Amino acid sequence: MDVKTDRFRFFRDDLCDRCGDCFAACPYLELPREEARREIEGLIERGASRALDVCNTCHTCDVVCPNEADPYELVLERWRERRREGLPTTARLVTPSQPCNIWSSLKAVMPLEELALLRAWEDFGPCEEICLTGFYTNVVPYILQAEVLESLPKIVGSEALFGCAGDIYKTGRFDMVEQIMQRLEHVFAQMGVERVVCSMSAEGMVLSEILPRRFGACFDFEVVSLDEWLLQKLQSEEIELKKELDLKVTVHDNCLSKMQGGRLQEVNREIVRRTGCSIVEMEHHGERSMCCGFGAAAAKFRVMDIMSSGYRRLKEIEATGADAAVIYCPACLFILSVIKEMAGCTIPFYHPVELVELVAGGVPAHRHEERAWDIMAVISNHLLKYALFPSHRKSFQPAFIPPELERLPELPPADRLRMKALATLYHSPVVQNRVMRTIVSAGFKAAVAGYDLMRKRQLGLSA
Ligand code: SF4
Ligand code: SF4
Repeated sequence: MDVKTDRFRFFRDDLCDRCGDCFAACPYLELPREEARREIEGLIERGASRALDVCNTCHTCDVVCPNEADPYELVLERWRERRREGLPTTARLVTPSQPCNIWSSLKAVMPLEELALLRAWEDFGPCEEICLTGFYTNVVPYILQAEVLESLPKIVGSEALFGCAGDIYKTGRFDMVEQIMQRLEHVFAQMGVERVVCSMSAEGMVLSEILPRRFGACFDFEVVSLDEWLLQKLQSEEIELKKELDLKVTVHDNCLSKMQGGRLQEVNREIVRRTGCSIVEMEHHGERSMCCGFGAAAAKFRVMDIMSSGYRRLKEIEATGADAAVIYCPACLFILSVIKEMAGCTIPFYHPVELVELVAGGVPAHRHEERAWDIMAVISNHLLKYALFPSHRKSFQPAFIPPELERLPELPPADRLRMKALATLYHSPVVQNRVMRTIVSAGFKAAVAGYDLMRKRQLGLSA
């Protein structure tokens, strides 16, 4: 596609006065004003840019831009130009149309009862009100089994909805976003949906903001997040709270929650306060919140960037001295759970539904640590293939998503076997013992420290 005629150009050059507020506020660049001005000018002119190497898709620049010029969209535009020849191989993990993506791969190691839930949710029959599972709720489906959610509308979702294009949007592949959007328009119209409760608030933002505003999606339904639904049930006392949790917690805000003026961030803090917990904020929170690590995955496709970005966030969580962290986005929850296990951190992570389930007298099915090791089996399989098969190291073009596609191809049997074997090993006493966990933690921290040092020198950054 010719860059000059590319129709997906969302950065508003005409509104940008090159003030540099965006990159001065970027929590990863942290540039002095003059350098920030030069950085945005360089990016506009397609010159050298550190933003393209550092960006973790956190949306802060968009939020702080006084002129609503959407500088993050300029980063995505430049990435798209760079990636016309294909995506690096690690992108297979986060590209929903690839057969061995994280979500499909996890099915090889999930317990049978969770697989049964995922199958039950693939019913797209006519329904006016649904709870949409989202890609990452499918990674932690047990969360939706909480008793406090029993009055949720019918739960619906499938990997063939491709996470409502949220992940692909972050890679800058807007042509694929459009393909997925057309599928969504078709599926939801056929169902006659009038109201969607999004169990993944990030997907709710994609459905209510990004697809209609940027891509012209025609959705004829109301979108509310599960968090808003939950708070409303608490306010109306339909969910009865039987005790208070005397915990000091910190709240991790996801990148897309910065849209809509931070309304979602406040909704989640109100839920936390209603459970009796007090809140201690991280250094970067609200509109300055930092990435869980997933943004790094979508932006740079390097496992070390994911670990580095996630560990930086984990250290902010630890620095608060909180008893627990509340993470309302299932994607952030699973990535940060992996980082937590790798780093040997013992602070518990909760989804808001779990906190409410606890104060309502229930026992949440809290399997985040276990699931983190399942995900490590999936990532290890990818790294093994990278080491063993030269063909797996090549860049690739994401497969076209045909409108009639109902489900992704089955996982190759060899991948399935390797992932099962790795998961069995990771859950066994061979790995789950104090000595091995100490070695894993020390190795992880040393690798991240070395990588961060190398990257800072390469990019000339102090941040
Ligand atoms: S994008 Fe916005 S914040 Fe950045 S330089 Fe332009 S006007 Fe300023
Ligand atoms: S999206 Fe976040 S990380 Fe990326 S350039 Fe903007 S502020 Fe920096």
